[in-house]
Order: sequence, then structure tokens, then C-alpha cells
Amino acid sequence: MIKTNRRLDLINEYKPSNRLYGGDIKKLDWNECNLKFDNDFKKILLDSLSDVIYSEYPNIDNKILIKKLSDYCNVNIDNIQTFNGSDSALHYIFATFLNKETNVLIFYPNYNQIESYIKLYCDKINYSKISNPFDSHIYDFEDINNNDVIYLSNPNNPTGYCLEPIVIEELLKQYNNKLFIIDEAYYEFSKKSCSELTKKYNNIIVTRTFSKAFSLASIRFGYICANVELIEKINKIRNTKEVNAFAQKLAEVALDNYSFIEDRINRTIENRNKFEKLLEENNITFIKSNSNFILIKVKNSKSVIDKLNTEKILVRDRGMFDGFDNTIRITIGDWDDMDKILKIILEENGNK
Ligand code: PMP
Repeated sequence: MIKTNRRLDLINEYKPSNRLYGGDIKKLDWNECNLKFDNDFKKILLDSLSDVIYSEYPNIDNKILIKKLSDYCNVNIDNIQTFNGSDSALHYIFATFLNKETNVLIFYPNYNQIESYIKLYCDKINYSKISNPFDSHIYDFEDINNNDVIYLSNPNNPTGYCLEPIVIEELLKQYNNKLFIIDEAYYEFSKKSCSELTKKYNNIIVTRTFSKAFSLASIRFGYICANVELIEKINKIRNTKEVNAFAQKLAEVALDNYSFIEDRINRTIENRNKFEKLLEENNITFIKSNSNFILIKVKNSKSVIDKLNTEKILVRDRGMFDGFDNTIRITIGDWDDMDKILKIILEENGNK
């Protein structure tokens, strides 16, 4: 019998929802940017790859990319480190800062893929339920008291709600011996960021990704902003060859051609606002979103999802979260798709 890491027994494998592959499937289930890809942008990305030297390891200290990221986040170059997606960044953060006895607080509901990483290192995950998520959306910050490391996605996945950075800054001051991990995967859709707080406070790490607004989920590129002392600690275990050369090049080129990204963000926000307005007019319960997805409550999530699937549209059932039965998370896509989704929701809900 081959022995495994004993902690594996504590972990329930994270199973992503079934995904159908193929160009004709509308993938509005995992919050990538599913708008049609612009051919001009695609050409710029592809052309840049001719510079990549296939036989060499990637640059382990890409100063050009780090400088571009630091300008984008308005921090210093030593406040940035890059990773294979923010998932990898989060894994390294937990590996660096958790011990068996560390108490980790997760505001609930949240991005739950991180839980298997956390459980590899510590025994104590605690949850603080966000009350009244479909209305006043209240976080109970008192729960921070009994914890050492606090994880929150901001905007929250799956609710789309975003706390103001000033609220988080107050927490950093009040709980200055606790580490706050602020997951800003969806920052570009809220435009509210804690990145600059990392210059001033040494108890915050902000994680970011190119998988959402930057429309480059395929390349697995993410980064963090943090105080240099925290970055140095993570660097002790970080694999310096972590980010491949193609991802580095494409991330640089995307930053150089940000107008394409900005256009995609604007279109997403426009479609989100239009969709929310129609939901409101039709009395569908939803949480006003600061992100590129929206959480709605329907009469019967299964029937809506089944119907959408027959139309080759994938969305995400979020009913497994306590208190969120019959909720669906829909990534905002092109308007044709949003229009189709709305019609099906109204039909299935008996509104039409
Ligand atoms: N954080 C949150 C809140 C997410 O929703 C996701 C993707 N679903 C990630 C992190 C993972 O991002 P990446 O692709 O950069 O690993």
C-alpha cells in the first residue's frame, strides 16, 4: 500500500462542474470573459509569440513585465510577484503562512476551490456567514477576532458584491497582526482595489488574474501585490520557473494593448447593467453585481439550467451554498446570449 500525505484524508476533492468543449458552446459558467474575441487583438497576441525561444527556460526575473504590472497596480516593482494563475498564488500563500494550528477565516459563501489548499496545511477553517446576501449583504467582522488569516474575494464570488477598500483598510489597522488575503480576480469590473494598500500595510496580500477581464484564462497567469517582506517569504518556496515564457509574453502584450481589454470590460459592464435592469423590471431576485457575473434566484434552478443546456448555454448552479437554494450564477456574455438567457428564465419562472 503506497502511503499518502495524511492530510489528504481531510480533503474532499474539488470537482469543477461538467464542461462541454467546443466553439459553439456558450461557456457562461466559469466567469472567463466569454465575449467574442477580437481578431485584431488575437493577431497582436499571436505575432508576439514569434519572439519566444522554445528551447529555453522562461525568464525567471522578467523586469519588463513586473514594471508593467506595477504601473498597472500603482505599486512599486518590489510589491509584485507573478504566478501560474491566482490559484497557484493562493496555494503558495497558504503554504507560506499557514501552520497546523492557524485559524483561517473565510466569509461564506466564497470561492471554494481554495479550501483544498488550505486543508493541506491547517486544521482550522472557520466560516463567517454573510447575512442577508440578497439584500443588505452584511459581513460580521467581529468573527475576525478568533482568526489569524482572513480570506475574502472582493468582489465576492459568487455574490458579485464588493466591499469598499476603505472598509478593508480599517480592518488592516484594527487587526494589524492578522494576515488579510484579498482576492481581486474580478477587480476590473468593480474598479475598487486594495492594491495600493500593500505599499503601506504589511498584513495584506492582493491576488489578481489575467483569466477574467484580460480574457486570457488559457495561459494561466496571475500575480500578487504585497509588501516586500511578505513577497520575500513566499519567494523562499516559489518555483522561479513558475510562469512559462508564452504566458509572460502574452501578459506583456495584453498590458501594452490595454485598450482592447478596456473595451471588453466596458462591454461586459454595459451588458451587466442592461441585464440587471431587465431582471428588476421582471421582478427576478438577484444581487446587484460589481463583477462579470450575476447571481440570481429562480423558482427551479434545475429546470432553468436544463433548458439553457439544450440551447448550448452553460451557467453555474450555486444552490449547494447554504441559504442559496435555486440560485444560478451567470457569467455576463455577448448580448445575444444574455437576451436568450433572460427569455428562458422568464419562461421557466412563469413570468411569460
Ligand atoms: N479567485 C476567484 C475568486 C475566482 O473566481 C477564480 C476563478 N474562478 C480564481 C481565483 C482563479 O483564477 P486563476 O484563473 O487566476 O487561477
